[in-house]
Amino acid sequence: MKCKRCRNAAAAVDLPSHNSAFCPDCFFVFFRRQVEVGIRKYSLLDPSDRVLVCVSGGKDSLVLWDILMEFGYDTEGLYIDLGIGDYSDRSREKVLAFAAARGKEAIVVDLRREGVPIPETAKRSHKEECAVCGTVKRYFFNRVAASRGFTVVATGHNLDDEASRLLGNLMHWHGEHLERQHPLLPDAGEGLVRKVKPLWRVSEMETAAYGFLKGIDYVVEECPMSHDATSLVYKEALSLIEEKMPGTRSNFYLGFLTKKGTFLNSLTGAETNGAPFSPGETSGKCTACGAPTYAETCGFCRLKEKAGKEAAR
Ligand code: SF4
Ligand SMILES: [Zn+2]
Ligand SMILES: [Zn+2]
Repeated sequence: MKCKRCRNAAAAVDLPSHNSAFCPDCFFVFFRRQVEVGIRKYSLLDPSDRVLVCVSGGKDSLVLWDILMEFGYDTEGLYIDLGIGDYSDRSREKVLAFAAARGKEAIVVDLRREGVPIPETAKRSHKEECAVCGTVKRYFFNRVAASRGFTVVATGHNLDDEASRLLGNLMHWHGEHLERQHPLLPDAGEGLVRKVKPLWRVSEMETAAYGFLKGIDYVVEECPMSHDATSLVYKEALSLIEEKMPGTRSNFYLGFLTKKGTFLNSLTGAETNGAPFSPGETSGKCTACGAPTYAETCGFCRLKEKAGKEAAR
């Protein structure tokens, strides 16, 4: 099959959801354009931004860092070593090699050193690994960004991630989560920097193809804790629908963003008008670590305390 853009080279990437197929060069043009449109649509980034890119060693986050550098943004990568055995060691190696090849040094937070490796902390606090992981990662994204003067935190969530999260939120009618679901979470002051997801328009397959064609070396294996992540079930369900009806996933998520205001007004009675969610003000600073929080101590310090108490028993 010939590339549908240049009509000259052989197509290397088939995109049924766009009714297209591209050669590598034309696919690069297509992919970059999708990301650019995604950034511009909600003003996710500004050329003056200092961007902290959260990199896990997987394809999405490394592709994100790569493309943001290519676009000329001022970026640094943050790698959080979750303390998940060999998987974390291999991921760290990939991130450090990726950064070094581009003359960069990734910022590394080692959760073993911080006293909160994910498997042990989950066990001691009697919580799911992924719930603990979410709390800990959010905490360090903010802490590193605020303490080092970054204006925005970027994560590599793609269209598949966001659509499956949307399906999960709808299945359980999580009104508040639906309200917060957006490629942009504005700065809430007090050290809660802006969070953006610049890959929200591109699918997992497109990101993987871009990473592969660009020769980005990433960790192929999934996090071993992901086997019982419910998000995978929603992803599988959507993949099945997408296979039968190409384009459905993108219609689903992009349609949600467009109709969000009207939809949520009727669901929650709130006047959101579809504007990016603006988090409310926090009530103050955590008495233990000084991070912004709604309670006396922040979620991270409460988790650390609980895990610590259990370890001392
Ligand atoms: S699968 Fe769970 S534990 Fe593993 S990185 Fe994702 S959220 Fe963290
Ligand atoms: Zn072409
Ligand atoms: Zn705290």
